[in-house]
Amino acid sequence: MRRSVVLGAWAVVVAAIPLIPAMPEYWVTLLNYIGLYSIVTLGLVVLTGVGGLVSFGQAAFVGIGAFATAYLTTRYGVSPWFTLPIGMLLTAVSAYLIGAVTLSLSGHYLPLSTIAWGISIYFLFGNLDWLGRHDGLTGIPSLHFFGWSLVSGRSYYYLIWFFVFVAICATQNLLDSRPGRAIRALKGGGVMAESSGVATARYKRIIFVYAALLACVSGWLYAHMQRAVNPSPFGLQAGIEYLFMVVIGGAGYVWGALLGAGLLTVVKDKLQDILPALLGSDGNFEIIVFGVLVVLLLQHAREGIWPYVLRRLPSTNGHAPLRPAAALPQRPKPKAGENILEVRAARKEFGGLVAVSDVSFTMCAGEILGLIGPNGAGKSTLFDLITGVSAPTRGEVFFRGGRIDRLPARAVARLGVGRTFQHVRLLPHMSVLENVAIGAHQRTRNGMLAAMLRLDRVEEAQLLGDAAKQLHRIGLGASLYEQAGSLALGQQRLVEIARALCGDPVLLLLDEPAAGLRYKEKRALADVLAQLRAEGMSVLLVEHDMDFVMGLTDRLVVMDFGVKLAEGAPREVQKNPVVLEAYLGSVA
Ligand code: ADP
Ligand code: MG
Repeated sequence: MRRSVVLGAWAVVVAAIPLIPAMPEYWVTLLNYIGLYSIVTLGLVVLTGVGGLVSFGQAAFVGIGAFATAYLTTRYGVSPWFTLPIGMLLTAVSAYLIGAVTLSLSGHYLPLSTIAWGISIYFLFGNLDWLGRHDGLTGIPSLHFFGWSLVSGRSYYYLIWFFVFVAICATQNLLDSRPGRAIRALKGGGVMAESSGVATARYKRIIFVYAALLACVSGWLYAHMQRAVNPSPFGLQAGIEYLFMVVIGGAGYVWGALLGAGLLTVVKDKLQDILPALLGSDGNFEIIVFGVLVVLLLQHAREGIWPYVLRRLPSTNGHAPLRPAAALPQRPKPKAGENILEVRAARKEFGGLVAVSDVSFTMCAGEILGLIGPNGAGKSTLFDLITGVSAPTRGEVFFRGGRIDRLPARAVARLGVGRTFQHVRLLPHMSVLENVAIGAHQRTRNGMLAAMLRLDRVEEAQLLGDAAKQLHRIGLGASLYEQAGSLALGQQRLVEIARALCGDPVLLLLDEPAAGLRYKEKRALADVLAQLRAEGMSVLLVEHDMDFVMGLTDRLVVMDFGVKLAEGAPREVQKNPVVLEAYLGSVA
């Protein structure tokens, strides 16, 4: 609600600007450029700011949009309104192919690859005869809209800012949705997202194409504004400037993209006037000044200017209230006593180190099995083997009779295995509710298009309702809208349990869930786990607090140095001399 009010007010202001009497044409032109840049930077918000994929190459996609329409309109007389979808198709295919090859690169290799293809496409424009080489193409027709000619700067202004408006709506809607949360989860390193059922590689490709499409639209608009294109605005320097704009504005924020595009364009324009006057020549000094400004900014406001502004605005604290909705469908619960999990001689070697050494055990439905052992015993590694986070060196894992040890984590999650992490993996700047909603990703269907057009509201209400329900259950009902990172570590562990529950699992793996909780909170957690067990859930529990373990578990498996030492009822295992020797370092 609030968001649409802000957007509406913004649109009114934007529409009114050219009506200001005696507004110089020069400013209209500048605003047109800001609009064109904003469309590109909005794509970078999703790709880089939210998704964490840095691209220096966006200018190349702007070029594809510009050259596609330039070529088709001048050479074949195709209507510009057709060249837009054609250019977008061409861009989507190019981006998809480039993405398929490069997006699996990790760390700094990905940004480096964007420089490589960015430069390649730029030189391609400059070397193709039919694109006019470095002179480019001229004589591009102006746009007409139902007999209304969009030749003047002011009329073109409305067209450009209409597209900016659409891009803002689509991007905002997208980020506030099921796919949007999956995109944000990419930054969490991938393991958490995959373990919540998110196909991370697919989402990376999708946001890469999304950002490229926005760049293409900007290029199309640019070509028909300038009526001529040559390769120079589509090179690496332009790609770097687009990136500067989002970084300066605030890479993770829609309004930051506009702010950055506006600021950089105006400042650059002013510097181009001032610097030659000061320094007495016409060199590209503004680039040097920019470099210094960016370095200063990264030191003092790393998140960019928009979040800095946001902190100083009166807090809106506006979150849409949860709408009542039907419950999400649940998977059928296994019968009591059904064989849920079978680990057969699972082994994991890290080089010479055997972290898990031929461990076998089984679990039945409705059982809480404690997995205990000293630090470094291999418990967390065993969790990773069961949940598909890493593949065993040897051995097999079966879930409800089906083999899962070669499946990716997201496939294991979709079968109904939920987990938490010993080292909490939350998105600290997202609300507790949204973090938990990521867990329901695998149970819901809405995709990018439905999200952008806001056709996802029914399912979204169901999904958020389920997330809220799990949080109430785990005792965090009062913290739905707090930032996850602001909670105490013990509470963050509880958020992870709620996230796992949101995936409607039948087997829950909890890695030290009670660490950092106070006595009463531990009691409450034990009650919740006992309640889940009564409903048919199976729980595999790693925990160091022996009172907690003894009071709750049906059986124990003890590990040390990767080897299973003992297995049995808690009271018996507690008396087992081998266990006492290994676990306590002495025989009592
Ligand atoms: P626990 O959870 O029981 O404390 P872990 O499963 O975390 O134990 O670790 C078991 C052993 O495997 C430790 O010696 C640890 O150092 C080692 N280990 C765990 N993960 C890796 C890894 N990715 N690479 C190399 N060694 C690892
Ligand atoms: Mg561990």
